[in-house]
Amino acid sequence: MTAAAHLPDPAALDAADLLAAVVDRFEPGDDLVAYLDGNSLGRPLRATVEALPEFVRTQWAGRLIRGWDDGWLTLAERLGDRIGAACLGAASGQTIVADSTTVLIFKLLRAAIAMRGEGAARDELVIARDEFPTDRFIVERLADDHGLTVRWLDVPHDGGVTPELAAEVVSERTIAALLGGVAYRSAWWADMAAVTGVVQAHGALVIWDCSHAVGSVPLELDAWGVDMAVGCSYKYLNGGPGAPAWAYVAARHQAQLRNPIPGWLGAAEPFSMTAGFEPAPGIRRLVSGTPPILGMQPIAHMVGEIEAAGMPAIRAKSGALTEYAIALVDALIPDAVLASPRDAARRGGHITIDHPNARRAVERLWGEGVIPDFRHPSGVRIGLSPLSTSFAEVERGIRALAAALAD
Ligand SMILES: *Cc1c(COP(=O)(O)O)cnc(C)c1O
Repeated sequence: MTAAAHLPDPAALDAADLLAAVVDRFEPGDDLVAYLDGNSLGRPLRATVEALPEFVRTQWAGRLIRGWDDGWLTLAERLGDRIGAACLGAASGQTIVADSTTVLIFKLLRAAIAMRGEGAARDELVIARDEFPTDRFIVERLADDHGLTVRWLDVPHDGGVTPELAAEVVSERTIAALLGGVAYRSAWWADMAAVTGVVQAHGALVIWDCSHAVGSVPLELDAWGVDMAVGCSYKYLNGGPGAPAWAYVAARHQAQLRNPIPGWLGAAEPFSMTAGFEPAPGIRRLVSGTPPILGMQPIAHMVGEIEAAGMPAIRAKSGALTEYAIALVDALIPDAVLASPRDAARRGGHITIDHPNARRAVERLWGEGVIPDFRHPSGVRIGLSPLSTSFAEVERGIRALAAALAD
């Protein structure tokens, strides 16, 4: 018998899926056959399709500037708290929604540099060599601006940061390590508690980029003692193109947190129009300008779905989806190389495979409504957003991918 004969029946997997009904709450695309890129841009909920025009009509047009007093002014903190509770294991008052991931990484890392104090001997920043470009660019720029050295962490192609690897580069000279919670390419889910411990044992700060982790794996930032974290809201939080990001700063650091872009809405008294910047006492000090109220609406809808399903059930489905995807790849695309962990416990919500025909195949598939992601130079990234993806869709998508790669 061939490996393909042992493949589970997708209909049976969907029938056993406790979250199967949620898939229908997402807006179907016109030509969509299989969406395998929910980790790059999550699909919109039907609720979002309906609620956005309604928001414009009743809230924006209806309330106009009074809306700020009706709750817009505190939305960044309130939605942050909901993300914190549902996805991050963060008690309230530590998470805010603002800016883009890029801008928040800059603000947090710059603040971490400011925290090292006068005359500190620390002069190094740690980051993985294959980290997402934005993260590397900011580390390199801040190192350049402040006369610091970048310590590069080399991780395996199908892996990511481990406590052992972190221990090789973190030292008494480290200011902060900016690390991916779930690696954007390999999907390696770091042992975030253990790595945090290694970084902090040297007196350094850890900043976790949770862009591919939030909404796909359960996070326990408070329990793990994480210093700071940041993440994207248009991936597994389905906030839509350009949705604002979120940042977490542990309560113990907030009094020392110096926002490098001080703005009026991060000030203690935004409307007193006083001279001099006095930061807000809590996480709101990280806000720079006016919060993106429209951009937060879709995130709130998706967080509602995550609250209802719960991260443990979402993680269970996510693990089953990636397991099934790997079984399909092994059976149908034998010449592909899996560039993600086979160990389900260390794997996030997507998988990447390497194949010489990757670029051509993905280009063709996009025209057919089968949408994985091409990752330079030869990777196909298959993102399986747990709440919007069915097992039948995974099967359709990977069969089409197998055919396109073989062509
Ligand atoms: C998606 C992603 C980002 C995105 O940054 P934006 O400023 O929102 O474009 C940053 N870092 C990582 C690791 C990502 O996966």
